Amino acid sequence: MNLSSLSASSTSSHPLAQYGWDEGWEAEFAPYAGQGLLPGRVVRVDRGQCDLVTPAGTVRADTEFVVPRDPMKVVCTGDWVAVDPEGGDPRYVRTLLPRRTAFVRSTSSKRSEGQILAANVDHAVIAVSLAVEVDLGRVERFLALAWESGAQPVVVLTKADLVPDPVTLSYLVQDVETTAPGVPVLTVSALHGDGLDVLAAMVGGGTCVLLGQSGAGKSTLANALLGEDVMDVRAARDVDGKGRHTTTTRNLLALPGGGVLIDTPGLRGVGLFDAETGVGQVFSEIQELADGCRFQDCAHESEPGCAVRAAVDSGELPPRRLESYRKLMRENQWIVAKTDARVRAELRRDWKRRGAAGKAAMEAKRRGWR
Ligand code: GDP
Ligand code: ZN
Repeated sequence: MNLSSLSASSTSSHPLAQYGWDEGWEAEFAPYAGQGLLPGRVVRVDRGQCDLVTPAGTVRADTEFVVPRDPMKVVCTGDWVAVDPEGGDPRYVRTLLPRRTAFVRSTSSKRSEGQILAANVDHAVIAVSLAVEVDLGRVERFLALAWESGAQPVVVLTKADLVPDPVTLSYLVQDVETTAPGVPVLTVSALHGDGLDVLAAMVGGGTCVLLGQSGAGKSTLANALLGEDVMDVRAARDVDGKGRHTTTTRNLLALPGGGVLIDTPGLRGVGLFDAETGVGQVFSEIQELADGCRFQDCAHESEPGCAVRAAVDSGELPPRRLESYRKLMRENQWIVAKTDARVRAELRRDWKRRGAAGKAAMEAKRRGWR
C-alpha cells in the first residue's frame, strides 16, 4: 500500500482539515495525541480565554497554563494548540504548537514591544485600490510586513472595473510587479465578480489575511471569499470608516472551498516591527545589486564603488525604489533601537531575579535545608 497517499487521505479527511490541519501539524501534534489531548485552532482570544475549533466542535478554553512572559508568545488567533479532551467549561490549553509564521506589530510608542496579531498565516493578501493613484511606497510597506511574517504576499489590485482600458490596466499591473519581485499580482473586480476565482484558488486550502489601506476593498473581498456578508462594507461617503463592524465574533473564518481567513482587530492598520528581513525581501533586486558594491556595509549614500547608485545612474534602478528602501530601513532601525532598549531592561530585571533566587538557594544550603 502507498503509505504517503494513506497519510494524505487521513489528514484531508481529518475534521480540522478545512481549518488548515495537515501532515506537518499532525506530526507536530503526535506527542500530545499520545497523551490523549485534542488538537485545536484558535478562532478568537479574549480575557485569558479562547475559542477553539477541535474535532469535538468549538470549545472554550483557558490559556492560564501557557501564559508566557514574552508577549510575542501569547496565544493568538490562528495558533494551533493541544487542549484537554474533556473536563470543565472552560478546559485548559496545555501546549502551544510552534508557529510557522506570525504577524507582529509594535505597540504604543512609549513602551515598544511586539504584539502578536495572527499566527500560521500562509498568504497575506495586500489589497490595493485602483480607484486612486497606486502608492507604490505603501505597497512596499505592506510587502515588508508580509515577508517578515513568513507568509507569502499576494497583491490584489481591486476595483479593476474602474480601469476599463486593458492597456492602462496592464501598465498598472507591470508597475506593481516590478515593485514586488517574487509576488503574484492579480486584478479583481468584486463589482463584476472578475478575478475572484483566481484569488480564491490561490489562497484556498491555507490560511490567509487581508492587509491594505482603509477603503482598499478588504471587506468586500472578504465577503466575496467567504461567500457571505460577514464584514460591513463601508459606504463610499463614510470616509473614516466609523461604525463599521464585523457581524461575527470569530476572527478565524472558514472559506467555503477549504482554508480560513483571519481578520483580527489591529491587523488591518498594522505597521512595521523589526522587519529588516522583510524589507530586504521587498527590495531583493537592490540586495542583489549591493553584492557588487565595493564595501560590504555600503549604505549606498556616497561611498565609492557603489553598484546600487551606479544602477540608478544607468537607469536600471528607479530612484524612487532606492529612496523607499532607505526610508523603510531607517524606520525599521528606529523601531529596533527602541525595542533593544526594552530587551536590555528586561534582561537586567532577569539578572536581578536570578541573582536573588541564587542567594536564597545558597542560604538554604548553608542552613542545611537541602
Ligand atoms: P475596506 O475599508 O478595505 O474594507 O474597503 P471596503 O470593502 O469597505 O470598500 C470600500 C469601498 O469600495 C466601498 O464603497 C465598496 O463598495 C467599494 N468597492 C469595493 N470593491 C469594489 C469593486 O470591485 N469595484 C468598485 N467599483 N467598488 C468597489
Ligand atoms: Zn552601495
